[in-house]
Amino acid sequence: MRFPLGMTTKLSKYIAGKRLRRVEKFPLVMMLEPLHACNLTCTGCGRIREYKETITEQLTVDQCLNAVDECGSPIVSICGGEPMIYRPLGELVTRILDRGRHIYLCTHGMFIKKRLNEFKPAASFFFNVHLDGMEATHDLCVERKGVFRQAIDGIRAAKDRGFMVCTNTTIYKQTDLHEIAELFEYLQDFGVDGHTIAPSYSYAAVQNKEIFMSRQEIQEKFREATKVLEKYSLMTSPIYLDYLRGEREDLMCTAWGNPTYNPRGWKAPCYLITDGHHATFKDFIEKTNWDKYGRGRDPRCEHCMVHVGYEPSAVLGANRRLGDTWRLFKWQLSGGSKGRRRMNGDEMEKCSPLLPAQTDSSEAT
Ligand code: SF4
Repeated sequence: MRFPLGMTTKLSKYIAGKRLRRVEKFPLVMMLEPLHACNLTCTGCGRIREYKETITEQLTVDQCLNAVDECGSPIVSICGGEPMIYRPLGELVTRILDRGRHIYLCTHGMFIKKRLNEFKPAASFFFNVHLDGMEATHDLCVERKGVFRQAIDGIRAAKDRGFMVCTNTTIYKQTDLHEIAELFEYLQDFGVDGHTIAPSYSYAAVQNKEIFMSRQEIQEKFREATKVLEKYSLMTSPIYLDYLRGEREDLMCTAWGNPTYNPRGWKAPCYLITDGHHATFKDFIEKTNWDKYGRGRDPRCEHCMVHVGYEPSAVLGANRRLGDTWRLFKWQLSGGSKGRRRMNGDEMEKCSPLLPAQTDSSEAT
């Protein structure tokens, strides 16, 4: 299985509950940024640049937990800045897991080894390590030598201790996809559980625009990426990959599905664009004019194909097509860590609400 059974079941029940209650906009994954500080200055990072005025501010654990409770998403992605320099991170992770949420802890990986004792392996907890290539390329992207080696040491230590680990790779204009294949091959030796790939996006705050791609360039790059990388355990959904290849122009932005909370508040409308911050999640959902955003509505959205806008669309089945349901279901059952077992019939039944629509035989083609 591509994702742990508990995560799939929880997400399925959650989506089914929202649909039953006819809730129109609801979060799937909350992006929690307890701080924006980082010890690196990665070339493509918008955060350390956009929030440089407030880079020393941090949320307290209680502020983080209040936001997690208010949002209610089944999955919390702890990011930043670099969350591994947030002092009470161990406590924060434990208290979010105690609430029955699933966590992706997004990190550059340098401090995993040092702080590993603060965490316990769990089926609801992933380390998600950022790697943009093999050693020379990655160290160039993050603008510091030695980062790749430290991240790999952290990954090995975490896997040796029974943690789940996945990686995330940003695909830039200059990315050599065969090098990314080499990276995934290398990571297989340590039993890494899966990989996400996503296109870079032109943050207003990043000066070096050369690295970002237009919509057409993203589509060309991801047509090649699918050919080169599909044999690896990609955690990026096949519907979203269709979109990235230009085969699903009809997906609409659902940025409310991946809301971001940071020391300034709930960032609206999305992870990339900041038109304001809201004090409460309710205000974020209700006071953001969602009809203003997306391709053809706002020039800043024109080349955006990022996961925070479109991966929820794929999971929620916005503009679904015949066959999507069955395809997503088969994808969830395939791939993933060799150690993970396959679902039995009862378990499949429980998970079916995760899909854009109930599986029906006419779709099972
Ligand atoms: S299309 Fe992209 S940039 Fe525009 S609102 Fe959606 S996620 Fe944000």
